[in-house]
Amino acid sequence: MNAINKVVILGGGTAGWMAAAALAKVLGHLTVELVESEQIGTVGVGEATIPTLLFFNRLLGIDEVDLLRETQATFKLGIAFENWRRPGSDYFHGFGSTGKDFWAAGFHNFWRRGIEEGMACSFGDYCLEVQAARAGRFSHEGGINYAYHIDASRYGQYLCKLAQRNGVKRTEGRVTRVEQQPQTGDIVALELADGSRVQGDLFIDCSGFRGLLIEQTLACGYEDWSHWLPCDRAVAIASDVLPDAPPYTRAIAHDSGWRWQIPLRERTGNGLVYASHHLSDDEAAARLLSELDGEAHGEPRYIRFTTGRRRQQWYKNCVAIGLSAGFIEPLESTSIHLIQQNILKLIKLFPSDVILSQDRDEFNRHADFDYEQILDFIVLHYHLTERDDSAFWRHCASMEVPASLHERIALFAESGRFFVRNNELFVDSWFQVMIGQGLVPKRYHRVVAQMPVPELEQFLSSIRRTINAKVEAMPAHSFYLERLLAKAQRSR
Ligand code: FAD
Repeated sequence: MNAINKVVILGGGTAGWMAAAALAKVLGHLTVELVESEQIGTVGVGEATIPTLLFFNRLLGIDEVDLLRETQATFKLGIAFENWRRPGSDYFHGFGSTGKDFWAAGFHNFWRRGIEEGMACSFGDYCLEVQAARAGRFSHEGGINYAYHIDASRYGQYLCKLAQRNGVKRTEGRVTRVEQQPQTGDIVALELADGSRVQGDLFIDCSGFRGLLIEQTLACGYEDWSHWLPCDRAVAIASDVLPDAPPYTRAIAHDSGWRWQIPLRERTGNGLVYASHHLSDDEAAARLLSELDGEAHGEPRYIRFTTGRRRQQWYKNCVAIGLSAGFIEPLESTSIHLIQQNILKLIKLFPSDVILSQDRDEFNRHADFDYEQILDFIVLHYHLTERDDSAFWRHCASMEVPASLHERIALFAESGRFFVRNNELFVDSWFQVMIGQGLVPKRYHRVVAQMPVPELEQFLSSIRRTINAKVEAMPAHSFYLERLLAKAQRSR
């Protein structure tokens, strides 16, 4: 077994360049080479992110305004879910927490009693990010939680420049053969179409859905989750920029899936996600085009996928990151987060000499957990619906869900209890989605009954007053963004 001195990354999509930029920045002793093929190209979607990306960008020393300018980004405070519970209904999943916990009980218990007493507003009214998003406002002040909508290919190019500045070698070429060590099966080198050879000690597979190293070479296997996540296709197209870019993504359910609308500064990203059993490609494209706000740019692009994850994301001397590692579904914008998680895990467990099986096992255990907790959260959106207007929704409402999700829903429905597992990514988000989709617990915590009704009213209304005052003080999102960029331009 070789000591790990040289890392080869196959693929220059978002995953490849995020991995290259991070390894070069944090593990400067390594030699890093990235191989990509312009002819093959990237998947070209993936514009909505979640707040954890801010942490990753800080790790790379990225200046926020620079990033906003270079990637045509807007701020994102959450996702508006339209038509999910039933046609015509809507709710927000905002990035912050809702209300505040008090005594021994979570806020949703106080809200639940408030509903019973006829004095509580909708759950989202107690969340700063939701209220700011609804009002189309944004500011860095007031401890707001946010993420970005970014032009994914520009983000890749941005990281490509950063990585190369930090010493990453970029090699253009199509990999046509993978050379393996005959005894161990470890990957030794990639052979390119021009006959050249790129040798390495550790290989990172960022080759996208094809999983050229982890699957086509090492045959790791794929756990198919499409029985829980029935959508298997998307059609995407850009359209005119929205007049006042809202600081949130729209996820609009339709009878066979859902549609995204993502506001960027120079265009709007749109896509229709659908189950091919229920909607044909032509119908999907026609529906997407007919629902666009503004003129379409170019032709629709079709993407096929199978939701699931690789059985082992680190196998032998190959680590899968990005679409090669798995794909849950873009509903909660978690793919870039999962890329980042695998990169951070790899950095944490990076071999100080040779690869230890214990490090690999630990990596895979955590990767399994990262994917499974997001799986549960996404399936929740589909399953917890009152829609019965199509075969697609009837299937989603009646399908068997993972046991962990089933237990969580049942426990919350009965008692309002919610137990956090390990280092879960989404916590407050679960309350927003469960309640938003119509699951209100039967009971609230007994401690809430100790609060006299006038005090409860005061407690609930003071949270709203504080939030509304903060939102009132915020400028419109587009205005704030343009002012921020103009100010930075003047001081350059
Ligand atoms: P790709 O972008 O496919 O890159 C693969 C790379 O490998 C390319 O550079 C290609 O040239 C190279 N390659 C492949 N084979 C070879 C070869 N033989 N030789 C040389 N090079 C090769 N994520 C989010 O976080 N938010 C979203 O809103 C979001 N929306 C999405 C919507 C849809 C419909 C889909 C399908 C995905 C979405 N994602 C989203 C996921 C996101 O697009 C991906 O996680 C992200 O783009 C990373 O892709 P990747 O780098 O793994 O693969």
